[in-house]
Amino acid sequence: MVSIDQMVKYTPVKIKKKTVKTVKSIRLVKAVYDTDEFGKHQKAMFKVIATTVPRKVTIKMYGKTDAPYIRRKSWVHCSCEWFTFFCEYALARRRSSEIINSNGNAPVENNPRQWPYVCKHIIATFDRIPKVKFKVPKIKPGQEELEFFMKEIEKYIPS
Ligand SMILES: [Zn+2]
Repeated sequence: MVSIDQMVKYTPVKIKKKTVKTVKSIRLVKAVYDTDEFGKHQKAMFKVIATTVPRKVTIKMYGKTDAPYIRRKSWVHCSCEWFTFFCEYALARRRSSEIINSNGNAPVENNPRQWPYVCKHIIATFDRIPKVKFKVPKIKPGQEELEFFMKEIEKYIPS
């Protein structure tokens, strides 16, 4: 996995300095603490509007929550075509994304060196992360667990 500052470092200057200015609005959709096969993480989902349809951006940050966010190993995804054809494969190879919209073939022409860079929508959301308040999801126990706990509790109730 690569960190956010590595993704920024590899992103072409043209994207970072120019096209990112076309981003008109960023709306936080969801921000939660979560766990998946790579471990515990903080997940932020955004709706980003630039020149065309709204794009869905997801950022998951792993590792210690008190570390500077740009240093944390991260997983990212954007629903735009540029991300699909230039970034998805190169990032998925490093477990920093997943093959969702591309056909899973290496981007031989678009990103032959497979640098782990990101699109303008993702670059634009990185600055928002320090202000995001992540929520701890409420855990509802399943029926089986509930019955187990009830039996455990009953043991302590004098009959
Ligand atoms: Zn994008």
